[in-house]
Amino acid sequence: MNRILFYITLLPLFFAHTISAAENETMLNEALPIGVIARFDDHGTGLPFDKAMELGVSVIQLKVPVAANRTEENVKKIRNTLEKHNVRLVCVVSGFAGESYKTIPIVKETVGLAPEKTRKTRFEEFKEVSDFAKRLGTASVQFHLGVVPHDTASKEYKDVVQITRDACDYVFENGQSLNLETGQETGSALLQFIRDVNRLNLHVNFDPANMILYGCGEPIEALRLVGHFVRSTHCKDARWAKQPGKEWGEEVLFGTGDVNAPLFLKTLHDFGYDGPLIIERENRESPEQQYNDILKTIEYLKQLRKNILQPKN
Ligand code: MG
Repeated sequence: MNRILFYITLLPLFFAHTISAAENETMLNEALPIGVIARFDDHGTGLPFDKAMELGVSVIQLKVPVAANRTEENVKKIRNTLEKHNVRLVCVVSGFAGESYKTIPIVKETVGLAPEKTRKTRFEEFKEVSDFAKRLGTASVQFHLGVVPHDTASKEYKDVVQITRDACDYVFENGQSLNLETGQETGSALLQFIRDVNRLNLHVNFDPANMILYGCGEPIEALRLVGHFVRSTHCKDARWAKQPGKEWGEEVLFGTGDVNAPLFLKTLHDFGYDGPLIIERENRESPEQQYNDILKTIEYLKQLRKNILQPKN
């Protein structure tokens, strides 16, 4: 009799450690949430905002609308729509008029805060984007800084370090972090740069395909160098160019290129990363193909995530 009573007292403990299928699904959705890049207006390569809401994803990154569209009315509209669909905004992605990704040398001349000619006026716009992100209630701003000069002793390099410090300090006042998108530097150059900027709110949005597209080294090796700084990631894939660094590689459906998607996710997980997996699909023949590729990638990521979070013994 005493033995039966003993087992009865243990029953609550047994149930406390049993996870139902529904609870398990919730846990899976909380770790490594899957999302997309959305755009509120016609600017940027993400999915249209309303289309992104149809996907049933739990997170998005929002490409910043043009200045004229950063109105209070639109802020309310975006916030209400996100709430209605139970979608979390993980960051606002900044960008600037005049940027072009046509060729690698043109990227160097036109993208981000790195080019000296446009730095001052762009920094003013960057501050407005951070303020807009604050109104949307998100704690992170993300962008392509541009190509960081390679000579770390040069004045050009020090100037880019300084403008990045200024950007970090500005977003810090808005309660935000700054996420750099990878690709235009090698992993070791990026690590050096982060250390030189020396700001605690400077983080990385790791885009493995960009490393291949720009010819900046094996993405997984780079991830192993900067993994501790990664706060979000773009699930994008690519194939190496014949002459990496001189011409573009080719962007392809996630999981079909040279990234090694399963190892990429496993490496992230080994760092303890449980942040967003944001699908980015830029080069596509039509909006329909982009949408369908994103649907395929959602299913693919769910499977990869399951394998990582529930490994078979
Ligand atoms: Mg990207």
